[in-house]
Amino acid sequence: MTGLDVERIRAHFDFPRTGRVVTNNAASTQPPRELVELYRELIPWYENVHRGQSTASRRTTDLFEDAYDTIARWINAPSRRCLVLGRNTTEAHNAVMYSLLTEFRHGDNVVTTMLEHNSNFVPWYALTHEILPRLGKTVECRPARLDADGNVDLEHLASLVDRHTKLICCTGASNFTGSRPDLAILRRIADASGYLQPTGERRSRLLIDGAQLVPGRAVDVQREDVDYLSFSFHKMLAPFGVGVLYAKEHLLRHGRPFLYGGDMIAEGRVFPDHVDYNDLPWKYSAGTPNILGVIVSAQALRLLADLTASSERPLFGGTGSFPYAVTQRTMDRLARHTAQLTGRAHRALAAIDGLTIYGPRERAPLIAFNRTGTDPFTLAKALDQRGVEARAGCHCATLAHHALRLDPPASCRLSFAVYNNEEDVDRAVEAVAAG
Ligand code: PMP
Repeated sequence: MTGLDVERIRAHFDFPRTGRVVTNNAASTQPPRELVELYRELIPWYENVHRGQSTASRRTTDLFEDAYDTIARWINAPSRRCLVLGRNTTEAHNAVMYSLLTEFRHGDNVVTTMLEHNSNFVPWYALTHEILPRLGKTVECRPARLDADGNVDLEHLASLVDRHTKLICCTGASNFTGSRPDLAILRRIADASGYLQPTGERRSRLLIDGAQLVPGRAVDVQREDVDYLSFSFHKMLAPFGVGVLYAKEHLLRHGRPFLYGGDMIAEGRVFPDHVDYNDLPWKYSAGTPNILGVIVSAQALRLLADLTASSERPLFGGTGSFPYAVTQRTMDRLARHTAQLTGRAHRALAAIDGLTIYGPRERAPLIAFNRTGTDPFTLAKALDQRGVEARAGCHCATLAHHALRLDPPASCRLSFAVYNNEEDVDRAVEAVAAG
């Protein structure tokens, strides 16, 4: 119905052989066999990058650099110079925080929301409550509240923004309520602040946590005009270990690096009293990176395009550019499929007595809920006994659980990916009904 041949897609994965109902995809997705095999295929030419004359090093460097280009292409970034690749989304948020640390002025503020994953709140809390006060600067952290449906109250957020707001940090899709704040409205609010940035721009910067957004829909960073966008590849079919920070090139050129050391310096340009940094993107790539992880992560995007039959030619295993329309087609097909599964789950769960579902109807492909009289941990364990993988806890969306007055601050969550089918949804719903 959605044009995806899900059974053919499932054949690329090992988990269906176990009978697992993998419905905890908002935490991490499963890796397809091709990506695991790709690690092996890369081994004969295993070498470090940017620091060897050997054919192996040059070959690996070419693949590594091409991976940056693929990732940039996927989000329609102007070039690889806009990318900082690290371990995960959390590291990306910390990179922004440390990069901007010295720019904050006494009296500034950061506006964030009660819907954030802790990775997009705790760094701003620590910056404003612990780090900057020790440097003699008072900077406020202002979290915007939620509305009754578990959306960010954008009117309240707008009321918190003023000409001292250096940065607005907001989730692109909540991993708890599934709510997806309107990025165009956030951009307008940031633009209207009048904050004078050191680059001369008069507007607040906008950081979007894309950990749940980028795996769910096409995100064109130029069209959305975000300043920073973060996401993790372990939620996009790749194995653990690689996360992305996209930032506008001028911000990276102007900003301080997060990590200092080798490879991020200009060749030969380190003196006792002077250091020159490397060109972008390598200025933000200190030390030996997760070389194979980066190569495999970029290939995960190419494979996803192949699995959804979105490109006229196969992309997996290759290098070089492809039209941004491939990302759009891939993510549109994936989004239609996961929306259908989520809708099916939502309708069936809503019919179960005593079940409270959090979040708006229009949502990312996940559903968090609680059942009167059963704590969510017991419920998740009962689901597991029926082979259904859910997740109970606060999902690191601790503020939002408190805001909804959940005691304990926890919920049980099901979440869907490209390889889930209707049977997975039905088994999960049956398990909840029985649990
Ligand atoms: N933000 C959101 C919305 C998330 O769902 C997650 C992962 N649960 C993160 C940030 C953190 O991602 P990572 O653990 O890869 O740093």
